[in-house]
Amino acid sequence: TKHFPVRARGRAALSRTPRVVHAVDDVTLTLRSGRVTALVGESGSGKSTVARLLAQLYPRTGGDIRLAGSSTEVKGGRAFKAYAKRVQMIFQDPFASLNPVHTVRHHLTRALRIHGKPADQQGLTELLGRVQLTPAELYLDKYPHELSGGQRQRVSIARALAADPEALLADEPVSMLDVSIRLGVLNLLRDLKERLDLAILYITHDIASARYFADETMVMYAGRMVEGGDSETVTQNPAHPYTQLLVDSAPNPERLGAIVEDDDEDSGEPPSLIDPPSGCRFHPRCPHAMAICKAKVPERIELTDAPGHWAACWLYADKAALGEGAVPEQA
Ligand code: SF4
Ligand code: MG
Repeated sequence: TKHFPVRARGRAALSRTPRVVHAVDDVTLTLRSGRVTALVGESGSGKSTVARLLAQLYPRTGGDIRLAGSSTEVKGGRAFKAYAKRVQMIFQDPFASLNPVHTVRHHLTRALRIHGKPADQQGLTELLGRVQLTPAELYLDKYPHELSGGQRQRVSIARALAADPEALLADEPVSMLDVSIRLGVLNLLRDLKERLDLAILYITHDIASARYFADETMVMYAGRMVEGGDSETVTQNPAHPYTQLLVDSAPNPERLGAIVEDDDEDSGEPPSLIDPPSGCRFHPRCPHAMAICKAKVPERIELTDAPGHWAACWLYADKAALGEGAVPEQA
């Protein structure tokens, strides 16, 4: 869970109740070695916040992050360094994450040294080879602006791999790249997952790419997780009304890579997370909303169509147990 304080202005500043943004509430997910887990949602759903929490880039409001079963509490530089050796993050904009005044050699040398690895020619060549930038001599002395967007993202990935991490957190790693090269970068990540047995978190607003690339898919809406399961099931047989909306508005999978640029393609706006809707946060937009949906937060309900498939939606609860609340509200 992550809540951010809101700085009040004007009259609101006089109120005594501190206001918070409920960016992430009660999100639970598991990353596994050799698997890609997609976290899908529209912008503002909290998915980048989840990645930053997992990278320990800021403290969480509540909950726990376990790495190979052990709780992690990162306080101070040394603990962060030890954690970052095992869990690395790749950002959306490779241009912003590489320093324009330094060459590829400088970036990778520094990364290898930070993680106590020999930063010799062999180490550098091997690192660039892992991201298919060969021969290394062609790239080592280039500056970020001399590389294409795809090459820059490969350098960022190489830098992350310098740590020999167990997990890679990739926040929209291809959404700023040209459509024509997105698939190449996703295929590289998939190849790395297999060869290095990496656990990858793939954050995206494009559910079609999750189907193509991820083993498991989790869907977030307004700071909460609403559905999860294997990617095939979630994308082909979505259970939660929000996932259904996402799938319906996703581009044709034949055009995979033509990832939606516009986050507001569907009807309705995501709600304010300062004052989120009660109960199921999707209820103001949901065509199936019932009285109980406004009153109670839906729990994860295991679905029977595929192992591990679940949805947080009252539609799937045992109707008898719900009583009168489970009656569609009249349109
Ligand atoms: Fe719709 Fe209710 Fe399900 Fe929320 S819990 S998605 S409002 S049916
Ligand atoms: Mg984001």
